[in-house]
Amino acid sequence: MTTLNEFSSCVAQYDPQALPVTAAQAIVRQWATPVTAVEHVPLHDALDRVLAADIVSPSDVPAHDNSAMDGYAFRSAVLAGRANSEANSVELTLAGKALAGHPFGGAVAVTECVRVMTGASMPADCDTVVPQELVTRSGETIRFAASAVRGGANRRLAGEDLPRGSVALRAGRILRPSDLGLIASLGIAEVPVRRRLRVAFFSTGDELRSLGEPLDPGCVYDSNRHTLFAMLRRMNIDPLDLGVVRDEPAALEAALRSAAASADVVLTSGGVSVGEADFTQQLLQTFGDVAFWSLAMRPGRPLAFGRVWSGERPGLGLPALFFGLPGNPVAVMVTFYQIVREALVVMSGATPQPAALLQATSRELIRKRAGRTEFQRGVATRDARGQWQVTPTPSQSSGVLSSMSEANCFIVLEHERSDITAGESVDIMLFDGLI
Ligand code: AMP
Ligand code: MG
Repeated sequence: MTTLNEFSSCVAQYDPQALPVTAAQAIVRQWATPVTAVEHVPLHDALDRVLAADIVSPSDVPAHDNSAMDGYAFRSAVLAGRANSEANSVELTLAGKALAGHPFGGAVAVTECVRVMTGASMPADCDTVVPQELVTRSGETIRFAASAVRGGANRRLAGEDLPRGSVALRAGRILRPSDLGLIASLGIAEVPVRRRLRVAFFSTGDELRSLGEPLDPGCVYDSNRHTLFAMLRRMNIDPLDLGVVRDEPAALEAALRSAAASADVVLTSGGVSVGEADFTQQLLQTFGDVAFWSLAMRPGRPLAFGRVWSGERPGLGLPALFFGLPGNPVAVMVTFYQIVREALVVMSGATPQPAALLQATSRELIRKRAGRTEFQRGVATRDARGQWQVTPTPSQSSGVLSSMSEANCFIVLEHERSDITAGESVDIMLFDGLI
């Protein structure tokens, strides 16, 4: 068995104590293997699920040529040589009517036309629709200028949206509202999706109290479990809340093993730095496999990544990928979005998409040290010219969770970069769409 530890040491820039963010992301990506089980769910339950197989169109969509306008369908042969000539005026006799869902079944002569409404099947042999605004009608006689309409105009072709046999949606896609509509347009009511990823999480710390418990002196309410729950739910992942675990090696080991037994991924918060009560890293060295435990990143420097097993020794029992997130509430969110999220996307069976970055002008001086990637919290707005401007939130402390609620974006400050002066351009990652 290749251990994560052996693998990671071959990665360029490997420094387990201060790994650059891009190197950490590369390691994590390598170890994220997709779940394979497939479920067939009703269309509405498929929203935000990962498509497990290509959806192939069983028929042409639309099934028939149809009218794109309210007007009159006719055979374009009647236009031949007429436009801009003496005989520009076309005169046709009304032969009948077609509405959406009510086709016209008869034949249409070249001197005839059929009244059609948008979506109505094109009558046999007709290939063009003249919009009703462009005609004059007297009784059963329809007149219009040949120059007003080209042959083939205002007709939607069968298979124009999706030809029969074409791939409508590719496996690996996270299904969106338009996809549900598209699948319905094919007449398909059940969708093959990957099973949902199961992620177990718990908080560590003797100071943590759960909701409903009295807050003893020196204690804080556990917020990380609730943030984690919400971030996982937004990704349509099945969250398994294992509560608060005390800062005791035996309790921690038991919690990690039971988490590995019941989930694909285990997330913990707290206890990963080098304080006296920080046992996670130490434990992982003995009964797990650790790839790295410290990143050149802020917030989020202490972050352990590895594997754990439900058995007594590494390799025994059921495995799970492990992320030991920092304890500070902002650091939990930043490391989740920047390091954990992509692994969860891949493990869910989805094809990861690059994060959408926008360029913004910083309104203020931003202090930044070269040699680490920083994800500051910012408030971005668009100015009158449509340019993005960003202001860092007043607090950049990794313990101040209200800065995340106040912000609407991360300001991404790359590894090599140092102080940013007011007016300089920075990349921002908007929360909407990401979170
Ligand atoms: P640690 O990484 O365990 O040293 O924790 C760092 C800081 O984050 C400490 O101030 C902890 O009290 C705080 N913290 C750790 N876990 C949580 C949690 N689940 N909810 C809120 N704050 C936490
Ligand atoms: Mg702690």
